[in-house]
Amino acid sequence: INRFPPEARAVSTNAQLFERAQQSIPGGVNSPVRAFRAVGGTPRFIARAEGAFMWDAEGKRYVDYIGSWGPMILGHGHPAVLEAVMQAARDGFSFGAPTEREVELAEEIIRHVPSIEQVRLVSSGTEAGMSAIRLARGATGRSKIIKFEGCYHGHADALLVKAGSGLATFGHPTSAGVPAEVVQHTLVLEYNNLEQIEEAFKTQGHEIACVMIEPIAGNMNFVRAQVPFVKRIRELCDQHGALFVFDEVMTGFRVALGSAQSVYAKLIPGFRPDISVFGKVIGGGMPLAAFGTTRQIMQQLAPLGPVYQAGTLSGNPVATACGLATLKEIAKPGFYEALGAKTQALVAGLTQAAQAAGVPFVGDSEGGMFGFFFTHALPQNYNVVMATDKERFNRFFHGMLDRGVYLAPALYEAGFVSAAHTDADIAATVAAAAEVLKAE
Ligand code: PLP
Repeated sequence: INRFPPEARAVSTNAQLFERAQQSIPGGVNSPVRAFRAVGGTPRFIARAEGAFMWDAEGKRYVDYIGSWGPMILGHGHPAVLEAVMQAARDGFSFGAPTEREVELAEEIIRHVPSIEQVRLVSSGTEAGMSAIRLARGATGRSKIIKFEGCYHGHADALLVKAGSGLATFGHPTSAGVPAEVVQHTLVLEYNNLEQIEEAFKTQGHEIACVMIEPIAGNMNFVRAQVPFVKRIRELCDQHGALFVFDEVMTGFRVALGSAQSVYAKLIPGFRPDISVFGKVIGGGMPLAAFGTTRQIMQQLAPLGPVYQAGTLSGNPVATACGLATLKEIAKPGFYEALGAKTQALVAGLTQAAQAAGVPFVGDSEGGMFGFFFTHALPQNYNVVMATDKERFNRFFHGMLDRGVYLAPALYEAGFVSAAHTDADIAATVAAAAEVLKAE
């Protein structure tokens, strides 16, 4: 797997490419977090990837714990997925007409997620989240939505209110270019804060269309919505006729085959969200996302109902082939047990390495998603996450990168393990961490 000799590629260094990129692309990147602004240094320009590894333009190899920010749950270039994509590409890139594979993918998603009776496929998590909100507003006839600080649901205008992820890098609570009028119906509350959600429903319950949440917030590293919090939101939504939207763009098919909602359903008997939003894993690395709910609510969508939603590339044949092949692999027996065990081993190894070095450290994981913080206890909300030791995180990030381990380049981002990561890869990562932490 270590084929890919540097001399085959080392035409330009990462620094040269970054310099060149900044001439033609703002900040040199097509999505802000890639610019390494949070951690400093030069972004690595990736030339290729295979299995658990990526190689940069200079031919340096990294164990990849970003996995394209979540989608690459099987690792890069899984043979079955590759074959499906190549076959689909040969059959045609895009038709703008329905295909059988879209139906198959919809059926596959529905089969694994009992709260969903119908889905619509779109091209990005942003689009899916935006459409889910329009649907919730259309179905309830209400305008107000609730989101939580530190949760990122894509960059739709109404959701860029103290959003996390890339925005936090630049320290902006909201984005320029979003008129105040557009976000006036968005209430931003503290994650895991029961009092605030009670108060919001008490005062405005009859106006709230939906509550949108990242059930395990990967855009503030890794913060679980506490069980009583989720349970109470469910009750409040039911009492007040609001819809509960689970943004599972990151957690969907990543933390469990039934997604995060299946994790909560084990802890809250009968629990179901109303609307679910998916992305990342369901596209297996291709631009594909979805939103779904009951048949009754989905009938509100065009062409059946009054809520408009559309897309030239929605349900793209190559993307659906990629997603479908990915879902078939991850549905195989034992997949999540193995993935979860590996991810737990990684977090346990990192924790031990930190303990041995006397560095405060906590980590957590669910399925193939993990997070860690340089502090003593797992944070419960955004402010606590942002108060953890950023300088230490940044030193750790660069120490690991130097040693060929590619972690998310910001302390408020989650990490991902794939099925292609071996026990040896995990062990090598832990050994690198021990070395880096010892120097602290
Ligand atoms: N929702 C969540 C929870 C996400 O993590 C992301 C992206 O990271 C999005 C929505 C937006 O998805 P996309 O980047 O595909 O637009």
